[in-house]
Amino acid sequence: MALKTGEQYLASLDSLNISSHILGRPVDQLAGHGLVAPSRRAVAYTYDAAHDPACRELFRVVSPLCGQEVNRFTHLHACAQDLVNKVKMQRHCGAATGCCFQRCVGLDAANAVFSTTFECDQRHGTPYHARFRDYWAWVQQEDLVVDGAMTDPKGDRGKRPSAQADPDLFLRVKERRDGGVVISGAKLHQTGMLNSHEILVMPTMTMRPGEEAWAICCAVPVNAPGVRYIYGRQASDTRKLEADTLDVGNPVFGGQEVMTVFEDVFVPAERVFLDGEVDFSGVLVERFASYHRQSYGGCKVGVGDVLIGATALMAAMNGVEKAGHIREKLIEMNHLNETLYACGLACSHEGQATAAGNFQVNLLLANVCKLNVTRLPYEIARLATDIAGGLLGTLPSAADLNDPATRPYLLKYLAANPAFTVIDRVKVLRLIENLTAGAGAVGYLIESMHGAGPPAAQRIMIERQAGMEGKMAAAKRLLAIA
Ligand code: SF4
Ligand code: FE
Repeated sequence: MALKTGEQYLASLDSLNISSHILGRPVDQLAGHGLVAPSRRAVAYTYDAAHDPACRELFRVVSPLCGQEVNRFTHLHACAQDLVNKVKMQRHCGAATGCCFQRCVGLDAANAVFSTTFECDQRHGTPYHARFRDYWAWVQQEDLVVDGAMTDPKGDRGKRPSAQADPDLFLRVKERRDGGVVISGAKLHQTGMLNSHEILVMPTMTMRPGEEAWAICCAVPVNAPGVRYIYGRQASDTRKLEADTLDVGNPVFGGQEVMTVFEDVFVPAERVFLDGEVDFSGVLVERFASYHRQSYGGCKVGVGDVLIGATALMAAMNGVEKAGHIREKLIEMNHLNETLYACGLACSHEGQATAAGNFQVNLLLANVCKLNVTRLPYEIARLATDIAGGLLGTLPSAADLNDPATRPYLLKYLAANPAFTVIDRVKVLRLIENLTAGAGAVGYLIESMHGAGPPAAQRIMIERQAGMEGKMAAAKRLLAIA
């Protein structure tokens, strides 16, 4: 089947008829909901880009799995250049939407599950890899969005899954029936869940012997019976519901996070890709996390491009673009942003083939990438706040700009560089506000800290992957120490 357009994608999403709780109410018509619509448009962009002559080459690739041209967002990386192209595509999308475009999680999950199932089958004689190949060839041909679902609620962090007061605090196999399993639990922080067709469930951490029930990887459709959704709140999100789009900051696109509950959901055996093989749960988590840590070296950089551009515009609108300290700060913002990109590219270029044949990022460099992402966007946001000025926190509303009683005062006292209108200056301020303190900061800052694991998780991986023995041997060699 041909690659979908954004419009065809949205129609396919609507045909699933899913509903969610949003702001305390059940919502059946997600398409028309003001909080959801911007996030749908962001995912739709990943489809439209594959038809845009200016960038379609980056988004299209022939898949060795199904033998057809597919959207790169469903591709199993066949070489290191594929990993590089993924990061470039993500930067492109981040810059085009100024937000999280949500589709990378399933891509990262698929690449991790592909290699993990292959190795699991080799060790245990399980049938998972062939199943997953069939499943993913279908996803590619149908050009679907898959939500990679990893993060469990985890309850009391000091206790293992079986010691929790409620065993569902880690998603688990609750029951076995003929032809499949019944799962129970929840996944938190599900990026773009309601804009997906399928959910690819993965374990949340390394499981130990005795924790087989929690070592489950499987796929379910988003409209499977027993799956429930509760929409995540974002700062200033209700501005998306206002008729005037000026105050929302990003007038077209936005991200989406959802809590997902699995209440006794039946999964047929052909959609189960790990079931009790605890020795591969950690492998799967590590690989998925590393792909997603690479991803941030693309998407956050693209959003950073937007924030840096808005900040430079703000400086010009304020008439300070030539001031030495402003130029220095803009240089610093670019330096930080390109450092993240360099990390995303480096872990991709150093990618290696897995036993299954797809390509895995360099684990050490991917973790270095993400650890930088937990810091540098915050510094970029700090510099943007510095240059934007105090109006970022005190600007009157669009309603005041529209009110004849207050509009003349706002137009008079918010005027700065006459080359720009007051309204354009307000638009830029609101965009900077969106990314540094509003709904966009969920994707640009909070997710930079916690998405794909918090900084401590990257530090553990860096310690494991750093090759300290080799470094000590180098020092000893140089000093002739035996
Ligand atoms: Fe993709 Fe970035 Fe959103 Fe993750 S945070 S889904 S990598 S855009
Ligand atoms: Fe993420």
